[in-house]
Parts: sequence; structure tokens; C-alpha cells
Amino acid sequence: MGAAASTTRSTRRRGPADPAAAIIASVSEAVIVTDAARRVTALNPAGARAFGLTEALARGRPLGRLNAELGEWAQRAESADADQPLVFGLDLPPRRSFSATLTPLRSPAGRITGWVVVLQDSELLRQAEQARAEAIQAATHDLRNPINLMNGALSLLDDSLQDAGPAQRECLARLRTGLDRLGDLLDRVLSLDEAAGRPGKAREAVSLGAIARQVVGEMRLLSTEKKIRLEFSGPKAGGQVLAEETWLQRAVSNLVENALKYTPERGRVKVRYHEADGQAICEVSDSGPGISPAAQTRLFERYYRVAGEATRRTPGTGLGLAIVKTIIERHAGRVWVSSREGHGSTFGFAIPLAPAAAAPRLKAARRSR
Ligand code: ADP
Repeated sequence: MGAAASTTRSTRRRGPADPAAAIIASVSEAVIVTDAARRVTALNPAGARAFGLTEALARGRPLGRLNAELGEWAQRAESADADQPLVFGLDLPPRRSFSATLTPLRSPAGRITGWVVVLQDSELLRQAEQARAEAIQAATHDLRNPINLMNGALSLLDDSLQDAGPAQRECLARLRTGLDRLGDLLDRVLSLDEAAGRPGKAREAVSLGAIARQVVGEMRLLSTEKKIRLEFSGPKAGGQVLAEETWLQRAVSNLVENALKYTPERGRVKVRYHEADGQAICEVSDSGPGISPAAQTRLFERYYRVAGEATRRTPGTGLGLAIVKTIIERHAGRVWVSSREGHGSTFGFAIPLAPAAAAPRLKAARRSR
């Protein structure tokens, strides 16, 4: 009784007045709150540590002065005017990786009144992912040779069994299908290495808008089979980016393929291309199952698949989004996701417009401000 009373007394003496503030102060994630003008109004100790500032020094600063990249993300989220949080990777000096979630605060009338930024340290996850990926990449390399040998032996067997019966033919066909599938999987794993490697072909000025439009055309058959309405929107004549065209096609098709794969029949998939602040931006939205906030922070990891019915029903390797991220980062770009369970998902990426195309556009944008 006496001990209980003294605990209560000491809690009353030292405990924070506001329980919500106590929770935010004690979590390991960095939490930063801003006003509508994106100036910091509150942050927790982890937030101050992430930016190497004291809380007092950070308060009142524009988000972009805590970190320029974070400021740009908030600007982008504001112009997208989405209801759902935006999730993206953020690297802070000296060398720390974070998974960032940016959520708008809204007044009852729907006006943005501020922002909440939550940064989750993903450095340990990143290191674990790298170790796992290196082990798998090494094994994949070693698997290539025996698979090639088996393919060769199977062709010989096929040729020499002239009078094979239907059962034998069926066996050979199954072996061939299995080996083809294994080969496909290895190609996917190895293409991550390739995408992360040094640029192969010289980069050329290409239109990301035209690439996205073309990918949508190629996916039309798949969408019709699933009775999904697939739409493209974007200007006829857009700016150009310096890129390796086949890699960009790959990035866009991985996103569109996923949207079609995970969206149930009679749903809707929209691909939008636009340009802003010297960036070529491609976004793929779907009316599918959406993704939980916890899973959103891990989607671009290699081999990560969301636990749950929608993913279990759909075959995949967990490599598609990792390939997209690798390709886009190779083009000095960024990827993001915005999603709410039961309300669909939007995956997007932005890469810099080629300077010749970007310069007049930026000038025009500045003049119009
Ligand atoms: P894969 O589709 O081969 O599993 P990805 O890396 O492309 O691998 O995607 C990783 C995971 O993210 C998927 O397994 C799925 O759980 C989830 N996902 C990707 N795109 C969507 C989407 N449009 N809607 C819902 N979930 C998605």
C-alpha cells in the first residue's frame, strides 16, 4: 500500500502531464510535427537526434531546412493532395537509412493544417537485407550451370526418344516447364545485379511519357482478361529524360503488372505521367486491396511479400519492386508508395528531366509564380 502510494506520488511528480506526449517522447521512431507552412512545431527526442539538433533549435525551422530532401517530399505530397500517407526511403548523414512516412493533418473542412513525419531507422534492416541478398545472388549464380546442363540433356533425350509414349512425353513436358520456371526465376534474381551494375548501353534522351503510354498498350490484353479498366493520362508531347530505355520500360511494366495482378476483377488501374519541378513523374494507381502501413515501409526490399490472402493467391517472387527501385535509383530518381488498406495503392517514381528540356520548363514555372 505504502509502495503503491509512493509510486503514484513519484509518477505525479515526475510524469509528463500529457500521456500522448509521453508516448511520443518514448518511442524510438523520430516524430516531427509541422504547421501548414511546414515549419516544425513539435518533435520528440529521437527526432532531434536524427537531425543532430536540440528540440529548441529545430522548432520553428522549415522542414526543408532540417533536410532539403524531406522538404521536397512534403512539397510533392502537398501538390499530390492525397489523403493517404506517403512512404519513401530517406538517407540522413552520416550514413543512416530511414523509412519515412509523411501524413497530412486536415481540418474538418479538408484543408491541410500541418504534417506528421515519422522516421523509422531501417539501417539494420538494410544491412540484413544486403547479407541475405548477397547469399542468394551467389547461390543463383551457381545454379545457372546445372540448369543449363539439364536443359541440354533434356533436349538430347527429347531427340533420342522418337517412339516415346504419351506418358513419357508428358514427363518430358513437365520437366521442360519446371526448368523454364527455374530459369525465369534465376533471370529475375540476376537482373537485379544487372540493374544495380554499371550502366551498360549509353543513355539516350527518351520520353518517359511515351514509354508509360506504350507499356499501357502492351498490358491491354492482360487487363481485358481480368476485366480491369486500364487508363493512361499524360501530355502528348512531354519532356525527355536521359535513360536506358529498356530499363525504364521494365520499371513501368513491373508497376503496371503488379497493379493488374493484385487488383481483383472489374477493378481499375490508372497510369499517370506528368512533369513538375524538373522531374518526370510516373504514378500507377489501382483500386486493389491496399497495403498496411507496416508493410509499406518494407515493400521495396528484395524478396519481401506482404503476408495475407491477396498475396498468397497471386504468384510472385518479391523481386519486382526491388528491381523498380534499383532501376530508378540508377537514373538518379526516387520511388514512393501511398496506400490505405481497402482503398487501393499508388506507386510512383520521379527522375530528373534532361537539362535541355528541363531548363525552359523551370524558367516558365518560375515566371508563372
Ligand atoms: P511480387 O509481386 O513478385 O511478390 P513485388 O516486389 O513486385 O513482388 O511486390 C512485393 C509485394 O508487394 C507483393 O508480394 C505484394 O504483397 C505487394 N504489392 C505490390 N504491388 C501491389 C499492389 N499494387 N497492390 C497490393 N499489393 C501490392
